[in-house]
Order: sequence, then structure tokens, then C-alpha cells
Amino acid sequence: MREPIAPISEQPLLEVVPRDLSAYRAGNTGIPYVHRFVSGRPGPHVLVNALTHGNELCGMVAATHLLDGGARPAAGTLTVSFANVAAYESFDRDKPFDSRQLVHNFNRVWSPEWLDGSEDSPELRRARELRPVVAAADHILDLHSTSQAAQPFWVYPAFERNAAAALAIGRPSVHMVMPSGLGSGTPVIQHGRHGEPDGGGVALVAECGQHFLQATADLAVEVTLDFLAHFGLIEREVKPREAQRRFELLQTVVIRTPEFRFARPVVGFEEFGEGELIATDGPAEIRSPCDRCTIFMPARAAIVGREAVYLTRPL
Ligand SMILES: [Zn+2]
Repeated sequence: MREPIAPISEQPLLEVVPRDLSAYRAGNTGIPYVHRFVSGRPGPHVLVNALTHGNELCGMVAATHLLDGGARPAAGTLTVSFANVAAYESFDRDKPFDSRQLVHNFNRVWSPEWLDGSEDSPELRRARELRPVVAAADHILDLHSTSQAAQPFWVYPAFERNAAAALAIGRPSVHMVMPSGLGSGTPVIQHGRHGEPDGGGVALVAECGQHFLQATADLAVEVTLDFLAHFGLIEREVKPREAQRRFELLQTVVIRTPEFRFARPVVGFEEFGEGELIATDGPAEIRSPCDRCTIFMPARAAIVGREAVYLTRPL
């Protein structure tokens, strides 16, 4: 059920590991692990969200950086939240990939069907608790990381407002744009009006690098400060950025059988020619739908029901 499907070391380098977050539990909003600072001056309400996935530690580093440093907005409102702390607290050094989630993927349940539904899990309870926090934000930065050490990238619905902000910030310099959503559920950044073409408000995921690397945590801090500066919450010089590369999501492949295998070793950003075999899943073949199909976030283990890989093409 959980055999490796990509050639990665069984025990990744753990440069960053969880720290005790109990000091952040009380917060100041009545919702655990949610901290809010109101400047009293006009400006947007920006949410920096960490730990949507429990083992994506860079967000925890960025959020604690803000809170420990006493960050206060010069304008508008800043909210800092630690989302799936229950999964985070399940971290096991010997199985560091297992604390992504406990039951549900916290980042696929942000539709009314799930949030108003009758199912229950630690993730659904936490999403229901955080629903007003996400809904209240004008602009959302959701901090993530990847299992493979691929280059960092943005993920966002293909709305002009999102592209404008991500391009202006320019770091990461790679963008995965979603013309019609994720295809496997509703992520935090598509909750409510943030999922509507004319809903208003920027909502971006930053995938900052491999889960446990210091460079990933360092980038998450920089992206967070850039995001806050972009919306005028803090003063910060924006440096010139390297050329941007944008990709359009074509299809999200979900693993159907434990036999899922990639046709060749992949870590992300490999290109496939039209019709080329990307993977097999039991009897099914996953072939490239176009020339220069570029893959994002290949799964490292064949876990049925989880995303296998994202198929994109360069824009
Ligand atoms: Zn994630």
C-alpha cells in the first residue's frame, strides 16, 4: 500500500524539525493558534496560514518568525494561523512524511459540501473552526512545501488578481496556475469568494521547497515578508527578480491502485512529449496530453486516493 514509487532516500535530511507550539495555542482571537493584529490604519486584512499540512514545517517557521519578532502591521490587519496542529504534533522523525494529515487532507475540504457536511475528522473539525478566519481575510498566503527537493513555486487559481500579486512579488519565480481549480477538492485558497472569478482578494499557495530543509524555511520567511510588504502591511524593499516561468494545470492525477508507478524516476519539472507514458496505475496508463507536458509534485508513495502528480504545460 505504501511502497516507494520514486527513488528517494528512505530517511530524508531533517534540518528543520517541529518545535513545541503550545505557547502559541491561546492566540488572541478565541480560536486556538490564531493571532490577529489590527493596526488601526486603513489597509487590507492579510492572513498568513501555516501548517495546512502537518509536516510542511516552513510555514511554522515563518509564522513563529512573525510572532516571535513582534511583527505588527503598519496598516490593515495581520492574522497568523497554525492550521493542522494536530497532524503536526503527530510528527515522528522515523516517519516524517506521515504527519501530512491525520484523516482528511485539510487542503481539500474548503467547499460547503465538506464544511457543512456530516462527516467528522480532526481536519474537518479544525477547518470548521478556522472557517471564519479564512473567510474574514482579504488576502491569503498559504505556506506549503513539497516531499521532493524540487524548485519552489506558486499555486493559484487563474484569476488576474492572483497573477498580478504573484508576479509582482516574483519569488518563487515559477507559477502553477489553475484555470479550473485543483480537480481533487477545494483548497484553502479557493474557499468562498477567493474561489470566485470576480470574488476579489488574492489567495496564493507558496510551495517553498522540500519539507525539512532550512532553505525552504528561509524562503517561506522571505515570501511571507514580501507578501506583507506587497499589501502595505510592512515596509520592505522589493528587489528585482529573475525571469518568471508560468505553467497551466491541465489535469490532477489521483492514485487509484497500490500498483501506481511512474514510468521513470521523477522529482518534479520533468517534461513529457505528447502521448508519452508518464505512469501506470494498475491496468490504466497515464500519458502526456500534450507536448512539453511538465509534471509538478509527483507522489513519493502509492497511497490510494491521494494525488499522484499534476500535469501542466508551459504558458
Ligand atoms: Zn502542502
